[in-house]
Amino acid sequence: MVLEKTLNKEELNFDDIKYLLQLKKPEEIDKLFKKAYEVKEREVGKKVFYRGLIEYSNICTKNCNYCGIRLDNKKVPRYCMTDEEVIEAAIAAKDFRYASIVIQSGERSDPAFADKIIDLLTRIHKVTDNTLGVTLSIGEHSKETYQKLYDAGARRFLLRIETSNPELYKKLHPASHSFEERIKCLRYLQETGFQTGTGVMIGLPGQTVDDLARDILFFKEMDIDMVGMGPFIEHEATPMGENDGSLTLQERFDLTLRMIAVLRIVMKDINIAAATALQAIEYTGREKGLKAGANVIMPNLTPTKYRENYLLYENKPCTDEDASQCRGCLEGRIKSVGDEIGYDVWGDSRHFFKRTGKEPTKN
Ligand code: SAH
Ligand code: SF4
Repeated sequence: MVLEKTLNKEELNFDDIKYLLQLKKPEEIDKLFKKAYEVKEREVGKKVFYRGLIEYSNICTKNCNYCGIRLDNKKVPRYCMTDEEVIEAAIAAKDFRYASIVIQSGERSDPAFADKIIDLLTRIHKVTDNTLGVTLSIGEHSKETYQKLYDAGARRFLLRIETSNPELYKKLHPASHSFEERIKCLRYLQETGFQTGTGVMIGLPGQTVDDLARDILFFKEMDIDMVGMGPFIEHEATPMGENDGSLTLQERFDLTLRMIAVLRIVMKDINIAAATALQAIEYTGREKGLKAGANVIMPNLTPTKYRENYLLYENKPCTDEDASQCRGCLEGRIKSVGDEIGYDVWGDSRHFFKRTGKEPTKN
C-alpha cells in the first residue's frame, strides 16, 4: 500500500526517495523497476541511445583517491591517442550508426590540451559531415575554455559531482580538489549552453542512504540534463583500494539499479546512462540498468591496445575486445530486454530543450 502510494505521488520528497532506495523485498523492487520503466517508455521512449566512447588519454594531473589513473599511480603506462586514431574512431562511430560519441580523458589544464581537443573537434565534424553529436568528459576547465569547446562543436559535457555531500567529497579527494569549483564548472557548462550531465558513485565508503537521496535531489535542483552514475569499485593501486567491508559489490550494484529507477521517476525526461561499471559486477548489468529506467549506453570505441591502461576501476569489462565486437554484443543484449536501438539519432536530452526552450537540432 505504502509502496503504491509513494510510486504514484506527483512529486517525491526526501523521505519518499529514502524509502524507495531502501526497498529490500524482491517483489517491491520489481514494482519500483516496472514503474520506472513505464515512466521511461512514456517520457523518453524505448529507444536506447548510443554514445561511442573514446578514452582519449589516461594522462591526468589530478589525484582522486578512488581512480586507477590518478597521477600518483606510477604503475600504469601513460598514453594519448594519435589524431589519426581519434578520427578513425569517430568514423567508426558514424559507420556503426551510433550518431554520437563521448571523448573522455584524464584531466589536463594546460592550454595545449584544450587546443588539441578543439582541433580534433573541428576535424571530426569535417570528416563526418557534422553528423556526430559530441559529448566531452574531460574535467574541470575555465569558462572561456568551455566556450571555445562549445564553439568548436561539442554540445554535451559530462562532469560527475561524484557525491553531493561536500564532507564526503573532501574524503575522496586531496585537499587541492574543490567541491565548490566542481559546482562552479557545472554552472559554467549550463551557462555556455551545453547539455549538462553529472553523476555520482554509489557505495562509497562512508556514504549513507541520506547522501544518495540528496544526490537525487541535487540533480533535480541543478536541473541537470543527463546523469551517469555507477557503483564505486576499488582499484588496488589507489588510497581507496581496500574494500572497507561496508557494502559488497552486489549491494552496490543493487543500490545503483534502485538509484536509476528512483531518478527516472523523479526526473522523467532526462537521459540516464547504464554505466559500464554495472557490467563489471554483473555480466548483464547494463541490461538491468535499462530495465530500471536508463536509456543510454556507451559502447567502447577505444583502440584495444589502450584499454588495459584506462582502468579507472578493477574488472572493467571488454578490455580485450575491439569496437565491432562491442557493437555486435550490445545489439543482442539490448533487444533481450525489449528495448530498441536508436541508430542514426543523436538522442539529445529532452529535458535540455524544455529547460532552455531551444529547438531540438536533430533527434
Ligand atoms: N577525468 C574526467 C573523466 C574521466 S573519469 C573526470 O574526472 O571527470 C570518469 C569517471 O570515472 C569519474 O567521474 C568517476 O565517477 C568514475 N570513476 C573513477 N574511478 C572510479 C572507481 N574506482 N569506481 C567507479 N567509478 C570510478
Ligand atoms: Fe583524473 Fe578523472 Fe581519474 Fe580524477 S577521476 S584522477 S580527474 S581521470
